[in-house]
Amino acid sequence: MTKFSDLNLNPKVLKAIDEAGYETPTPIQAGAIPPALEGRDVLGIAQTGTGKTASFTLPMLSLLARGRARARMPRSLVLCPTRELAAQVAENFDTYSKHLKLTKALLIGGVSFGEQDKLIDKGVDVLIATPGRLLDHFERGKLLLTGVQVMVVDEADRMLDMGFIPDIERIFSLTPFTRQTFFFSATMAPEIERITNTFLQAPARVEVARQATASETIEQGVAIFKPSRRERADSEKRKLLRALIDAEGEACTNAIIFCNRKTDVDIVAKSLKKYGYDAAPIHGDLDQSQRTRTLDGFRNGELRFLVASDVAARGLDVPAVSHVFNFDVPGHPEDYVHRIGRTGRAGRDGKAITLCNPRDTKALAAVEALIQKDIPRLENPLKSDKPEDEAVQEDAPKKRRSRSRKSEDAPKAEPETEAVEATEAEEPQKPARKPRDKGGRGKDNKVVGMGDDMPSFIAKSFEERMAS
Ligand code: AMP
Repeated sequence: MTKFSDLNLNPKVLKAIDEAGYETPTPIQAGAIPPALEGRDVLGIAQTGTGKTASFTLPMLSLLARGRARARMPRSLVLCPTRELAAQVAENFDTYSKHLKLTKALLIGGVSFGEQDKLIDKGVDVLIATPGRLLDHFERGKLLLTGVQVMVVDEADRMLDMGFIPDIERIFSLTPFTRQTFFFSATMAPEIERITNTFLQAPARVEVARQATASETIEQGVAIFKPSRRERADSEKRKLLRALIDAEGEACTNAIIFCNRKTDVDIVAKSLKKYGYDAAPIHGDLDQSQRTRTLDGFRNGELRFLVASDVAARGLDVPAVSHVFNFDVPGHPEDYVHRIGRTGRAGRDGKAITLCNPRDTKALAAVEALIQKDIPRLENPLKSDKPEDEAVQEDAPKKRRSRSRKSEDAPKAEPETEAVEATEAEEPQKPARKPRDKGGRGKDNKVVGMGDDMPSFIAKSFEERMAS
């Protein structure tokens, strides 16, 4: 079996890997690192969870360990589709570069970038960016891409879904022809194939098996649910979700709850909050400060329930998530595998529970066909002799009984968001479980000028750099 020490990585990078506790390279790492270190382009067909971030970060750092950055000319560039993924890649860089003297900047939308401007002005070794923000910067004349020696495109298929391919092509054309390119995608759609044929030169193609099966450590279950009346389907489904969460008891330390639609992400989060659950939404339409605050809170254990859309949660690496709830069966069966892969990570146990109403049984069959397994059916924890009206009322917090009934039983014609918002204003919020750890930073002691909304793991690296 390949060992990291066989891979010709820089000794300081090896030391950091050892300290991170990694023993052996994952298949994508064993496949991609050697050609990358030989200076070849790499086409990695792998999805998140396979260790792909380290498969490009480790050779990049080894290649960059020699040489110096020049003003406004980053030596390497990593493009990510979302801000969260960019922040996650930045975190990986910090972990593996801790014994090297390399600088990085993070250019992501939605946060002020005064300090990042200054860093880029001075010269950075690694620039991690979302495509739009990078081009903004370029157009303002703040950045030259002619010094880029290594360029990474991460999650290219997600870039395609999000309409970033023209930006990527433009960025490719702004970097030198002689650059080395690492290109990662979970799938090879024809458009992705075209881009790789155009911009990669005789790449080493490294493919790791598509993750059609979920990790063995994830216990799965599906709760089939039939609404009592069509117009009650949504509120009854939220009630079922609460009952399923309650049935897990203390075993459910935290959970990601996936919804298929952004509007449902908001509604489910509000509804859970109303019933006293510590929940917050994350999806692409929320402003960045809120997204980073929510994600940061979830990662550090202050927030128990993260209600998410697929795009927002894709690729997020939160090591200890005890449960995943699928409020809806995903429309694309592969998304089921991605979703439930947020739990049971790194050999831990995890549980994934899916709510399925009659409309979704076809989608459920598609999921079961993909994973080649029947998902065990769960007892419906709401089994009750009482009519639904009473059950809903009983379950609602007592002091807001009449209002809750009104909202939860809102007729179909009323928009869902309004129904929830109508009660939301009056609901006292559950106090946060513990105050946010700001890592000792006062308001006037900002480290990178990204405001107080920056996830602490990003700040940490800068704090270390600034201190050294
Ligand atoms: P990624 O696919 O890059 O999102 O990585 C998934 C997770 O695997 C991250 O939490 C990494 O820290 C972890 N990881 C990456 N490489 C290794 C390795 N060789 N051994 C153990 N864990 C790893």
